Amino acid sequence: MHPHVKKLLELQSVDQEVVSLTKDIDSLPGEETRRRRKLDDLQRTATEAKNRFLKAELDARSLEKAIRGSDDEIKRLNERLNMVRNNAEYQATLFQIEAVRKERDVMQEECLKLLDAVETLRPDVTASEAAVAAESRVLQEFLGEADKLRSSRAGAIAEVRGRRAAMAQGIPDDLLREYDGLFKTRENVAVCGVVDGYCQGCYNKITVNDTARLLGKATVVRCGSCQRILFLQK
Ligand SMILES: [Zn+2]
Repeated sequence: MHPHVKKLLELQSVDQEVVSLTKDIDSLPGEETRRRRKLDDLQRTATEAKNRFLKAELDARSLEKAIRGSDDEIKRLNERLNMVRNNAEYQATLFQIEAVRKERDVMQEECLKLLDAVETLRPDVTASEAAVAAESRVLQEFLGEADKLRSSRAGAIAEVRGRRAAMAQGIPDDLLREYDGLFKTRENVAVCGVVDGYCQGCYNKITVNDTARLLGKATVVRCGSCQRILFLQK
């Protein structure tokens, strides 16, 4: 085997180790974002439910106040009724009482509807707040687990990365760059064996000329189909 290819092959097994150590860690930020978005959605729903509830309650209260005002008005008008001196004034006051009472009845009906709504909305508020609390606990748990995973892996990853740096020594820069590119684009296999004349990366037959060059060990040989760096396995 060409000495550079031999080094690359060793490097590749370290890089594959790094991939398996970091694969689940790399997925953590995406997972965190997804969970935070879910919590935000629940929070928004809870805030909306709370606002609907508070508005219905506030509206009901202000109607109750207006109804009390109407009651006072009716009381005052009834007192006036006892003091009026002529029939016209009497009729006018009666008419006024009737008008205020009608208005009061409309408000009363509206107020009852709002009080009903308040009671209907109350469980929504409780449920949506409970959902926020539950999801928040799930997120905290996830963040704790993620931290634990990261710190438990940190040592192993640093060790492997240190080993990799030492192993990359002596490999020409352009070959190393080529290898890095292939490792990323060829499913973490940049260097692969040839068995019975077939590239084990893409299973295409390599040329007789390339087989001869592999046997010569003097040059780095690439697969004509998948561009992977080759070595003779069998
Ligand atoms: Zn190939």
